[in-house]
Amino acid sequence: MQFSIDGKMLDAGKDYIISGESKGLKGKYRLVKIESIASKNSLGDWSYHSVSKKDLLVIDDSTLVGGGVKSLLKIIEEKKCFGAAGYIELNSVKLTMDVSETASPFFHLIVLKKSFPVTKSEAVINIQNKIIHVMTQNIIGYVKGKRMPDSFIVLTAHYDHLGEMGNSVYFPGANDNASGTSMLLTLCRYYAQKQNQPDYTIVFIAFSGEEAGLIGSQFFAQYPLINLNKIKFLINMDIVGTGEEGIKVVNATEFPNQFSLLQNLNDENHLLKSVQSRGKAANSDHYPFYLKGVPDFFIYTLGGISAYHDVYDRAETLPLTKFNDLEILLKKFIDGLQ
Ligand SMILES: [Zn+2]
Repeated sequence: MQFSIDGKMLDAGKDYIISGESKGLKGKYRLVKIESIASKNSLGDWSYHSVSKKDLLVIDDSTLVGGGVKSLLKIIEEKKCFGAAGYIELNSVKLTMDVSETASPFFHLIVLKKSFPVTKSEAVINIQNKIIHVMTQNIIGYVKGKRMPDSFIVLTAHYDHLGEMGNSVYFPGANDNASGTSMLLTLCRYYAQKQNQPDYTIVFIAFSGEEAGLIGSQFFAQYPLINLNKIKFLINMDIVGTGEEGIKVVNATEFPNQFSLLQNLNDENHLLKSVQSRGKAANSDHYPFYLKGVPDFFIYTLGGISAYHDVYDRAETLPLTKFNDLEILLKKFIDGLQ
């Protein structure tokens, strides 16, 4: 994996990332600013002159007005990159890695704008990227309830992350989602002790394939090992390693009674700074269950570090500010649900 511009070698993971769906590319390429070949009157209405397969388009997100970079990239893909081999997207804020299930016919590199040399005229690239399908597993355990073993409280957290980019760039995913997995294991250890045996059966699920599109949770919701109608409540924990500003609760507006319970428990016990409400969102593993009619929350912490889907989401810098208080709140909430 190599990428240099006008002789300057850029640092993979810190200066640039390869978009998940990108095609691989090898060789010397001329860099062409999108503004120099295309003009936009309105969205979808372009006039342009073609470039060649030895060119790469450069798209600077900070110079775009209206529409935003996402809609522009969509148009560029529809226009088959105007004949270029692909494009380099300059991001002025941060690099955000993703994984993709589908392959694009174009090269797509995301470069941090401040790492991009001003002279930029030629890039030398040697990057391979291809979609590989792998088998993976959800990991499931349970503690049998003592009073109503056929009713379930389900606790979930995805344990997958983004893996590596090449052999040298590693995305640890401390907050996303080793933190949630740790909370899952912490609660598992607690409820597994005889004196803490719950009234309902508590099911613990560590999902895989979340980052590739909620694959593990979708699979479970489609082929459940328990009766979904018997789930009293499901709590999904994804990114719970900070908490200075409290927590956000996805689906709070969908399940107001349970949300009130959670807020009251927090107030009574002076645990977190805030328990904030959010509507429904298809952004983590609770969602396939929500679509099946299972009442659920997705909880994530607020404040602290902003590392997300990048090489900086590391255990060394994850504060775990309110991890213990969140653990206490979750136990009280689980008790309150039974
Ligand atoms: Zn996550």
